[in-house]
Amino acid sequence: MSLSVRSYAAQSATSPIAPWTFERREARPHDVVIDIKFCGVCHSDIHQARNEWSGSSYPMVPGHEIVGTVLAVGSAVTGFAVGELAGVGCMVDSCRRCAPCLAGDEQYCDKGASFTYNSTEQDRTTPTYGGYATQVVVDEKFVVHVSDKLALDAVAPLLCAGITMWSPLQHWGAKAGSKVAINGLGGLGHMGIKLGAALGAEVTVLSSGDKKRDDAKRLGAVDYVVSSDRAAMKKHAGRFDLIIDTVSADHDLNQLANLLRTDGDLVLVGVPEKPLPIKAFSLIAKRRSLSGSSIGGIRETQEMLDFCAANNLVADIETIAAEQINTAYDRMLKSDVRYRFVIDAATI
Ligand code: NAP
Ligand code: ZN
Ligand code: ZN
Repeated sequence: MSLSVRSYAAQSATSPIAPWTFERREARPHDVVIDIKFCGVCHSDIHQARNEWSGSSYPMVPGHEIVGTVLAVGSAVTGFAVGELAGVGCMVDSCRRCAPCLAGDEQYCDKGASFTYNSTEQDRTTPTYGGYATQVVVDEKFVVHVSDKLALDAVAPLLCAGITMWSPLQHWGAKAGSKVAINGLGGLGHMGIKLGAALGAEVTVLSSGDKKRDDAKRLGAVDYVVSSDRAAMKKHAGRFDLIIDTVSADHDLNQLANLLRTDGDLVLVGVPEKPLPIKAFSLIAKRRSLSGSSIGGIRETQEMLDFCAANNLVADIETIAAEQINTAYDRMLKSDVRYRFVIDAATI
């Protein structure tokens, strides 16, 4: 039986996010039905709702930082029971057979993963709708366990912001003594500081203004550099092993690359609307690498959540009612969020 759910949706690239009721797809034997409690608000929600990456489909129910309780399980579900806490991040399925899927990197599925919204199920026709909603239906392979020791609303952002920073920190080997810089102190950036510091890395924040200096230190950063101050940035040339760039708008990659040591890595996770130019010499000069990283796999997401539970790590959040979502988007565009909005699903 399909499930009628309330949501907040974009009906077009220019319409505000507003209430919309729709039917979730039929639950199958391997599915978990989750009663959503909280959903984080990612900058990717804005990019996609406003069609900044092009190809958006509407109606769109954004939201891929979902936590809640299990309402029902299909007959074949073995890993979840009714009443348990559960989380869903940016993906709800993948082909499960290609090399990246078998390696646990479902986000890089050769056939194309099914993303939580603005995407389709693996049948390539059934649209997916995200977490600004009262319930969601997801195959248990794409559902993760959430600790009851952490504040549930503050866990939600770990499902995207957390894993998106954790995965490159792991892949590029951030550890005790590593010199890591995080560019942009927003939802992703603040989780990058917390996770990097918890792994023992020396984390420096690069921020466009001076307003977040005290926060950066409180979150665990050892240093803070104002990226709009070119002279200040030059002083740190050649300093970092790894820079993770979370900035969502136009900015200068050459200035960032210059901060890397020989063989250092600049990893893009932010997705600005327009291409960013890079000078060959910015990389050639010190055999630097420019890479990108997309969220993280399901197993890795569970490892990150377990690490956060063991280290008492959650996001810094501002909980909002669903009807405040358009104001929240406007504030995020002004970098006015400390550091993640989370929708209380009871208000939908
Ligand atoms: P956010 O909370 O809005 O933070 C973005 C930060 O970028 C801002 O806080 C700001 O930091 C900086 N910034 C914004 N506009 C800027 C500008 N014009 N110049 C310089 N800095 C600017 O966004 P988020 O949710 O962290 O997401 C960041 C980006 O990552 C988005 O593009 C999003 O789509 C992308 N994303 C990618 C993945 C992935 O898998 N790769 C996953 C999730 C999100 P300061 O105030 O410190 O300058
Ligand atoms: Zn996201
Ligand atoms: Zn695959």
